[in-house]
Amino acid sequence: RELSLDMESVVLTDPQLSDLELLANGAYSPLTGFMCKNDCRQVLETMRLSDGLLWPIPICLDVQEDAAANLSVGQTVALRDAEGFMPAVMHIKDIWPVDRQAYAQGVFGTADPAHPGVDRMFNTMGSHFIGGDVEVLTLPLRFGFRRLRHTPQEIRTLFKKLGWRSVVAFHTEKVLHRPDYEQTIRAMAHARANLLLHPVIGRIRPGDMDTYTRVRCYLAACQKYSPGSMITLSLLPYTMRYAGPREALLHAIIRKNYGCTHFIVAPCHAGPEAGESCTAFYDPDAAFSLAASYAGELNLSVLQFEDLVYVEEDGAYVPKKEANGRKIRSMTEEEFIKRIQDGKKAPEWFTFPEVAKEMERSYPPKSVQGFTIFCTGLSGAGKSTIAGLVCARLQEMGGRPVTFLDGDIVRKNLSSELGFSKEHRDINVRRIGFVASEITKNRGIAICAPIAPYGATRRQIRRNIETHGGFIEIHVATPLTVCEKRDPKGLYSKARSGLIKDFTGIDDPYEEPERPEVTLDTTDMTPEEAAQEVLLYLERTGYIR
Ligand code: ADP
Repeated sequence: RELSLDMESVVLTDPQLSDLELLANGAYSPLTGFMCKNDCRQVLETMRLSDGLLWPIPICLDVQEDAAANLSVGQTVALRDAEGFMPAVMHIKDIWPVDRQAYAQGVFGTADPAHPGVDRMFNTMGSHFIGGDVEVLTLPLRFGFRRLRHTPQEIRTLFKKLGWRSVVAFHTEKVLHRPDYEQTIRAMAHARANLLLHPVIGRIRPGDMDTYTRVRCYLAACQKYSPGSMITLSLLPYTMRYAGPREALLHAIIRKNYGCTHFIVAPCHAGPEAGESCTAFYDPDAAFSLAASYAGELNLSVLQFEDLVYVEEDGAYVPKKEANGRKIRSMTEEEFIKRIQDGKKAPEWFTFPEVAKEMERSYPPKSVQGFTIFCTGLSGAGKSTIAGLVCARLQEMGGRPVTFLDGDIVRKNLSSELGFSKEHRDINVRRIGFVASEITKNRGIAICAPIAPYGATRRQIRRNIETHGGFIEIHVATPLTVCEKRDPKGLYSKARSGLIKDFTGIDDPYEEPERPEVTLDTTDMTPEEAAQEVLLYLERTGYIR
């Protein structure tokens, strides 16, 4: 499109690209573009589009204030992904400021920032919405598991070809374990139907299982449906909002568009799970009640997910109300992951061995996981000395590759253009953190020893690394007086005489770690004793055996 050369661009985030894809492929039918102001308002207030059709959640495109200032009604803009690829153009019909309060109340039923959806909205949503039809040039680029991605039309054609007239849709954002499997079997039997296993694979929250692992688990679980031809697996590029009841209804409409006749709604469907319980914001049955109340209008049967429990003496799953005080077993996904990481066998009543095997590949025990040893503390505290010793001991042991991201090596190879200003030192630490997280992801050992004086930077590095493996923060807490007396590189005397500015401990703060895994004050220790403390910690927690 030569046209696009002088076209204004709007760069979409991953969740916005998901919405664009669902608008483009017909999953959001009857919508043909991002909503205009009137539709958005009607949807928030009445759950209906201005033409009266049922629609529970606005599908709006938000932009930041400065971007909005460059756009005007009547303009055609290019919608691009972060790499500049242009899946669609949009003809802007409406631009209006976001009323966050009304949006939060309408979609989530609350404006409480403790709700993760509300929080995300207040913190990342732009200041304005732009509405208008989208003209799709090509679907957004997707690389993973292509053969499992379908448009509604493709799925409908497939159902026709297979002779399936009744199909139950099962929505999930989790791995399919035995209870879910039993649920889908019961739903199929009840509805005398086949199954569309329809997991969502939009952007995931930090700490969520990676999508590739999850999809491999679905493929493994599919083998357990016998005959396997009773179900179809398809991946839905949709980003969860955690809006509970209204979102359950949106999920139902999407599945209706995919040609399904039945839809299973779980307790707390699409509710936020962050924090203690999913019931903090919505009644567990509210999602089912709302979706079921529109079943007639949608011409879609809404099935309630039964609370199934495993009864040991029967060796079977039964509805909770039929357990009658017999011994039942249950396990959460978190408990399950912890178990396999501890090297324990996955119980077959909870998950199929084939699924467990996939999970075990992605969640190996600590002795095989990568980890980062992150020494932080004042200059001269002993970080490099300890790190060097630990590095040598781990290499003597062998088994996993070890990389020592030593200060000088990093400065030479990664950060040669950086100086020692506050800002540059922080950039340097972040780069070290990034490389350490890649090493950890690839199951190696990264050892770092920067001063890393700022808590916020360390916390961010920890968050990134902990999604891939271990983060072991070693606070080398040798007091300033001792460090200054040692002054191995003569830096303190330079700082005192003003030759170096912003020196940590002298004229720049060191923010002490809140909960380091190990704290070492090397005033009265030999370097070997300090290193031994670190190795003992690794041994105790299972990272080395
Ligand atoms: P940093 O990397 O924290 O700036 P270094 O390891 O470069 O610190 O320097 C610490 C200095 O303190 C070295 O000269 C080292 O020999 C000395 N030192 C004395 N006791 C210890 C100990 N228990 N652990 C580490 N270093 C020690």
